[in-house]
Amino acid sequence: MAKPKAPRQTLDSYTVKRINKTIKAGDCVLMRPSEPSKPSYVAKIEKIEADSRGANVKVHVRWYYRPEESIGGRRQFHGSKELFLSDHFDVQSADTIEGKCTVHTFKNYTKLDAVGNDDYFCRFDYNSTTGAFNPDRVAVYCKCEMPYNPDDLMVQCENCSDWFHPACIEMTTEEAKKLDHFYCESCSSEGQKKLQNSQSTSKVAETKVDTKRRRR
Ligand SMILES: [Zn+2]
Ligand SMILES: [Zn+2]
Repeated sequence: MAKPKAPRQTLDSYTVKRINKTIKAGDCVLMRPSEPSKPSYVAKIEKIEADSRGANVKVHVRWYYRPEESIGGRRQFHGSKELFLSDHFDVQSADTIEGKCTVHTFKNYTKLDAVGNDDYFCRFDYNSTTGAFNPDRVAVYCKCEMPYNPDDLMVQCENCSDWFHPACIEMTTEEAKKLDHFYCESCSSEGQKKLQNSQSTSKVAETKVDTKRRRR
């Protein structure tokens, strides 16, 4: 006959001694991958449990997937720090936690002054069985009609407000960074007029060239 299962208790928080970090439900953590050559797994802690003596601590987690771990694989618009919140739940030993990290909303991530090692972002929920994303549609930009990759520099048209990749408007990144004004192809005749007007009133136009990211 099987032994009755030892009663388990839920912990509000737990200090992972090896890294001297206190974790609690809701935190995002990096966990040791199955193969050392792989990047750390990223998970959100749902619950922390221990046995009645407070030992054998386990964390109930919800996995974040990296784009390359998804069925569709990494796409051009996926950022280097992009993660998908999956529907894949798991229970792991708390000892496999290697560190804490922050998974930002897409909007907050694009506002970061500098992206640290432990900064990630998530804009999609991911169904690990079907490979489907939620939302399944996002805004697209540029002539190439791609969702925004926050790692890429884009320039904004002062007239239509669309954003463009320098390469798609036959410009180098360096040239794009030096732009004071930019009007896309379809707006350029209108743009020239506006530009002349603004110069005649000697208004200093704020720069519309957004470098978006400064990497550490
Ligand atoms: Zn483009
Ligand atoms: Zn335009």
